[in-house]
Amino acid sequence: MTWMEQLKQQQPILWENPHVEQVPQTFLLDDHLIDEAEARLERFAPYFEVAFPETKPTKGIIESPITVLTDQTLLKRDDILPVSGSIKARGGIHEVLLLAEQIARAEQLLTDEDYRQFATIRIQEALARHTIIVGSTGNLGLSIGIMSKKLGFQVVVHMSHDAKQWKKDMLRAHGAEVVEHAGDYSVAVRIGRLQAEAEPLHHFIDDENSQALFAGYAVAARRLKQQLTTAPTVQNPLIVYVPCGVGGGPGGVIYGLKQQFGATVKCYMVEPTASPCMLLGMATGKHDQISVQDIGLTNETIADGLAVGRASQFVGRLMEPLLDGILTVTDDMLRNYVRTVWEREQIFLEPSATAGFAGLDMLRERYPTAQHLVWATGGGLVPTAEKCQYFA
Ligand SMILES: *Cc1c(COP(=O)(O)O)cnc(C)c1O
Repeated sequence: MTWMEQLKQQQPILWENPHVEQVPQTFLLDDHLIDEAEARLERFAPYFEVAFPETKPTKGIIESPITVLTDQTLLKRDDILPVSGSIKARGGIHEVLLLAEQIARAEQLLTDEDYRQFATIRIQEALARHTIIVGSTGNLGLSIGIMSKKLGFQVVVHMSHDAKQWKKDMLRAHGAEVVEHAGDYSVAVRIGRLQAEAEPLHHFIDDENSQALFAGYAVAARRLKQQLTTAPTVQNPLIVYVPCGVGGGPGGVIYGLKQQFGATVKCYMVEPTASPCMLLGMATGKHDQISVQDIGLTNETIADGLAVGRASQFVGRLMEPLLDGILTVTDDMLRNYVRTVWEREQIFLEPSATAGFAGLDMLRERYPTAQHLVWATGGGLVPTAEKCQYFA
């Protein structure tokens, strides 16, 4: 059977990227963007210590630890990233900070380089004239909503029909306006984009097309180097598995990893069998010009964070020389991972966040001497009542 037939039948598969460079050398993004993202997150660190005291232990840097599961298996804990409990605390927050900084500079709100001023009513009042708009299946909205409100912005989150009720409730409790749509992620993004058009004080955060988001995610990879106790080598490589929705989160992380670790890292994305938009886009070369609905798939999955039918406009192209492959995973597999991770580790991950384990299961034997890193991407804010349904 061809990969296309397997995709249509929603079988879990591994697609290997024929264009991957064994020694990665084609990096198509301007490096400056990632340098700037890293520097910006550092400039804001003193502000974070004030605004989000939970970031004090890391001196205002939003970073997550690694949990060692076994000798060769590591879990990257973006589920417990401060502020929003998911990988979106990297990209989403970075873009909000970028906007806040641009506005503060343009309106001459900063009297000196002390970014703790962003916690003052003077700056918050000025930012309150601006509205940040975003389309989301849930976690990006949460991250942008919480961050934007804290800085004083108005914020409107357009949510797809699959967004979980508790995510909408939490956002409203933070003071965000939540607009619910009957359509999927692409619809929510499109309507958000339209709302922002022609309004100078409206700023649309474009998850399908944003380099600022991508750069924010990529910073994670630079910091990972210090977290590994054993540096990977060509003989004993690092194999990384990252869940993929529209592609910005995993794409940014993987882009940064290939820059940091070169030929000593191999990177795989994992998508739901109902929403394999990145696999479809890369394998056909059509990228954002094809959707999973075009091949008869529903884009209906319990992995709300990954329920994206059409890939990012640019991430697949950046990934072409860098990504080793993409796997797909069924909802039943995800439910099982949620349960087993809890039973073995007492770590609660939301279904989307466990997808990386499918990569581990499939590729562990191919790379017997490797370190395997499963990127857990969310779950930290899930209310207890919500968790219980996975254990019924
Ligand atoms: C958003 C999300 C991802 C994937 O990120 P994309 O940028 O959409 O590819 C993975 N896991 C979780 C939990 C998410 O919320």
